[in-house]
Amino acid sequence: MLHLRNYIGGELVAPAAGRYLPNIEPATGQVFSHIPDSDANDIARAVAAAEAALPAWRLLPAEDRGRLLVRVAELIERDLDRLAAAESQDNGKPVTLAQAVDIPRAASNFAFFGTAAQHFASETHFQEGVALNYTVRHPLGVVGCISPWNLPLYLFTWKIAPALAAGCCVVAKPSEITPYTAYLLSELCIEAGLPAGVLNIVHGTGPGAGQAIVEHPAIKAISFTGGTKTGEHIARTAAPMFKKLSLELGGKNPNIIFADCNLAEAVQTSLRSSFANQGQICLCGSRIFVERSIYEAFKTEFLAGVAQLTVGDPQAAGSRQGALVSEAHLQKVLSYIELAHLEGGTLLAGGRRVQLEGRCADGYFLQPTVFEGLGPDCRVNREEIFGPVVTLTPFDTEEEALRWANGTDYGLAATIWTRDLNRAHRVAHALQSGIVWVNTWLHRDLRTPFGGMKSSGVGREGGLEALRFFTEPQSITIKL
Ligand code: NAD
Repeated sequence: MLHLRNYIGGELVAPAAGRYLPNIEPATGQVFSHIPDSDANDIARAVAAAEAALPAWRLLPAEDRGRLLVRVAELIERDLDRLAAAESQDNGKPVTLAQAVDIPRAASNFAFFGTAAQHFASETHFQEGVALNYTVRHPLGVVGCISPWNLPLYLFTWKIAPALAAGCCVVAKPSEITPYTAYLLSELCIEAGLPAGVLNIVHGTGPGAGQAIVEHPAIKAISFTGGTKTGEHIARTAAPMFKKLSLELGGKNPNIIFADCNLAEAVQTSLRSSFANQGQICLCGSRIFVERSIYEAFKTEFLAGVAQLTVGDPQAAGSRQGALVSEAHLQKVLSYIELAHLEGGTLLAGGRRVQLEGRCADGYFLQPTVFEGLGPDCRVNREEIFGPVVTLTPFDTEEEALRWANGTDYGLAATIWTRDLNRAHRVAHALQSGIVWVNTWLHRDLRTPFGGMKSSGVGREGGLEALRFFTEPQSITIKL
């Protein structure tokens, strides 16, 4: 059986204490590999390797750093099928989704930031006859990157690539639930010739390896994506140490559908924004608000689409829905389905665990589930479920839709469907949401700021925001 290893100081090494954790394939419920259960000693070793690599890496011209990152991108593209198969096995997502989204986006993260480093400019402020002020942006030093299980390689590289591009050295931890592609990435970094210690990938649990990253005094910043509760805990630990923090947390995103929309497009995209990756994307729109005059039409077409979402073996090309990531997570989502019944919801589709046959008989499968009749203030409509469960709610006025959309603690992403340009701008500006999509969903431009308001996080990733995060500005004034 496969035993993953840590990537420290340019080498693949066993955890210091020799402890391993089982890693389960969600589609089968069977252990398929073991991963290092690393502790503070492994993190200390990784930090020492990163500190040793830092002086040379930060002084390397951005062009040369960038060339190495682009090389990693090319290797990810070369191995797309192998990486997609690994991601699907580890996470339960359909292999077709990993091929189309996760792995290409991981490659483009490295390609984008590899070249972005060369375009990252600082400012000068000239005071006529008095002084020249200029700003230098120094890499922060050694930084920690911690990522979740839902888009494993995609979100892991989204942090690592800008940190490396900015001249930082990295100690990174993927989720212990989906470590496989991060391990394969470490092999590709060795092949690409990334200097030893520049990137260190340490596997293990949140309270073990993750906490040790957050607590290590030599780590200057933490870039974290994961749950809001974990984000709170990390902020509490890191804030007294004055570490810079970027926190990308949970969401409970509204999808607002006005009567003047292109209904066919709104239905098709809403099926994706509800159920892609089994609803386990922080950007999924799990609260669908539909203007009353088209409510029945939308509902009929949406439910017809849901009926087509085949739940099956993630490796099979025809499966539109794979497995949820773990038994514990499946149970959590099922508990919200029970709660939706208790809160008075009417089940329109799904609601049950799926029992497949053969290889997947013990997998964690769930029907895509739709409820209506739940008020905007009930728990099901306020708490993040992070699974294939959505609610449909009719609304009468724009004001009402906005009030409900903004009526949660979260503020990550929102989608609006309308052909009225004035309304699109008006509603977008009034939404308490870091990201707003109009007549689209999950559209990606790596230059745009990515992140949430309210309990969805602090700071932004993407483009120049990410390069600014991983650097410290220094202002220098020369008297004329
Ligand atoms: P999680 O918070 O349980 O874990 C995320 C990572 O943090 C894992 O690597 C975990 O090992 C680590 N961790 C846990 N405890 C830690 C600690 N004490 N110190 C340091 N690290 C620790 O989240 P998850 O269940 O893996 O992911 C699902 C959550 O992530 C959802 O809430 C989802 O909305 C959120 N998410 C947000 C975004 C975004 O961009 N805002 C993207 C994807 C997922």
